[in-house]
Amino acid sequence: MLTYNNNKALKTTVLVLGLASIMATEAVMAKAEEVKLYSERQPFLMKPLLEAFTRETGIKVHMVYLKKGMVERLRAEGANTPADLILTADIGNLHNHAKAGLLQKSSSPILQANIPAKFRHPDGLWYGLTSRARVIFAHKDRVKPGEVTSYADLAKPHMEGRVCVRSGKHMYNISLLASIIAAEGEAAATEWARGLKANLARRPQGNDRAQVKAVYHGECDVVLANTYYMGKMATNEKSPVQKKWAASANLIFPNQAGRGAHVNISGAGITSHSKNKAGAIKLIEFLSGHVAQKIYAEGNFEYPVKAGVALHPIVASWGSFKADAAYLSKIAEQRALAAKIMDRVRFNN
Ligand code: FE
Repeated sequence: MLTYNNNKALKTTVLVLGLASIMATEAVMAKAEEVKLYSERQPFLMKPLLEAFTRETGIKVHMVYLKKGMVERLRAEGANTPADLILTADIGNLHNHAKAGLLQKSSSPILQANIPAKFRHPDGLWYGLTSRARVIFAHKDRVKPGEVTSYADLAKPHMEGRVCVRSGKHMYNISLLASIIAAEGEAAATEWARGLKANLARRPQGNDRAQVKAVYHGECDVVLANTYYMGKMATNEKSPVQKKWAASANLIFPNQAGRGAHVNISGAGITSHSKNKAGAIKLIEFLSGHVAQKIYAEGNFEYPVKAGVALHPIVASWGSFKADAAYLSKIAEQRALAAKIMDRVRFNN
C-alpha cells in the first residue's frame, strides 16, 4: 500500500495518473478500428472488396487466407482466437462451424433485407453472400436435347455407363444429396444415390473441372459440377485447354419442371469469441450490399444473393433458372444422413 507524507505529493500523483489515463485512452482511439478475418475464399477475390470496405468505413480488415483446417484452428485457439469473422464456401462448411459452437448469433435489418431467408441461418449464425447452382454438364453432341433434365435422370437406366462425378463424400455432393433427402425423403434419396453409382463410367475421382474434362475426352457424357466452373474454364488464360473442356458441354439447370436446381452458397459467420462484433456485422452488411455484391459475384462467376444486382455477362448467358426454394438451414440438417447414405451405397467403391 502506498502512503503519502503530504497532500501536495498526493495531488501530483493523482494528476500524473489522470494524464496517463487520458493519453492511454487517446492512444487506443487513435489506433484504427480493425476487423480480423479468416477466409477460405481466395485473396484475389476478397482484396478489392475489403479495400472498398475500408475506403467506405475507415475500418481496416486483416485477412488470413486459410485453404483448409479453419474449424480445427478456431477450436484450438478457443477464446484467444484473433478472428472476428469467417468466410467460407458451401453450406457444409458454415454448418460445421455452427455445429462446433464456433459462431455466434447476430441480427441486422440490413442483412435481413439484402439476403433471402433461405440463404441465412434463422438465428443469424451464418449469412450467404454469393450463390451457385449444382448443375449438369452434358456433351453437346452425345447427349440429345431433353435426354437429361433432372438429377433423377442421372440415376435412370438410359444413363448407364455415361455419368462421371467427384467423390460422393465431397461436400458439394453431400449438400446435393441432403437437398434430395429434404425434398423426397431418405428412401428416395438412397435409391437415387444407388442408381447414380450404378451409372458411373468410372470410380468417383477428381474435382468438378476434372469431370468436364472427362466429358471432353469422351470418358462420360454427363457430369455434375457447380455453375461458376463453367465461367472459370471458359475464360481460363493460364490453362487455355480448359476453354475446350467448357466448350464441349452444355450447362443444364436440373429440375426445372420440378422443385428447381440445388443452389448452395458461400457465406460468413461471426466467431463466438469475436472482439469486434459490431465491426464484423458492418463488414457482412457491406458484402451483402449492391456495390460489393456486383464485384463479389462477378469475380468468381457466381450469383449475387441480393435481388436486382446485375450478373456477369457469361453467367447471364446461361439463362435464368428456377432454384430449389428449400432453406439451406433445413438442407444442412440432412447432411449427416446424406454422408451415411453415401457409405451405405458404397458410392466411392
Ligand atoms: Fe468450388
